[in-house]
Amino acid sequence: MMDPRASLSCSNSVLSALSGPDRDRLGAHLKPVKLKQGDFLYHAGQKIERVYFPASCLISVLAELSNGYSVELMQVGNHGVVGAFLALGSPQLPYSAVVCVTGAACQISVQAFVNEFKSEWAFQAEVSNSLRWQLSAVAQNVVCAQMHTIVQRMATLLLRIDDSVRGAEFPMTHEFIGNLLGSSRPEVAKAAHNFRAAGRIQYTRGNIKIVDRSGLEKVACECYRTIRELQDNR
Ligand SMILES: [Zn+2]
Repeated sequence: MMDPRASLSCSNSVLSALSGPDRDRLGAHLKPVKLKQGDFLYHAGQKIERVYFPASCLISVLAELSNGYSVELMQVGNHGVVGAFLALGSPQLPYSAVVCVTGAACQISVQAFVNEFKSEWAFQAEVSNSLRWQLSAVAQNVVCAQMHTIVQRMATLLLRIDDSVRGAEFPMTHEFIGNLLGSSRPEVAKAAHNFRAAGRIQYTRGNIKIVDRSGLEKVACECYRTIRELQDNR
């Protein structure tokens, strides 16, 4: 049996919203894991084997196209659950999920997740809340991809990551950003160069650090604030 205290070391809003007894019972099924940037948790169409509660990591849910491009549909950090599609009765995710920022998470088996969701109303309510804002975030990202420029979207992406890493430097290549935004590497490189030239980011040896957050917020599209409010008001 897993250590019941595992849930206490996993700072995820869905878990921390549960009462002590509910959290402790769930904790018996949780396993703390470290997830590394670039690792895929799921590929589209594959059966879901585990559900994840991100803590310090950030997960990108992607639609991958046959031409090799991909577009990020949403990001799930410590406010959400990855693989919660199971709660809707789907044994597989129609999209892929890749680790965007390395960090900690807690994982739970499919069976334990489904059992808890079916039998414990408090857990059911928290997971449902998470699903609601995640679906709203996907809708906002559709608007974003249609209406906002690569520069605006990249500023929004960097701010979301900065929220996750709390101001720390993080590794990120142009190629990885391009995969998230559905953009070519030259487009990403040009935007990154402009951000650096304007003193908004430092970008050295594949690592990015936000140094002028308010400047980046002025460039970012409204989606940054909209999705943040969805998370905070879930
Ligand atoms: Zn946008």
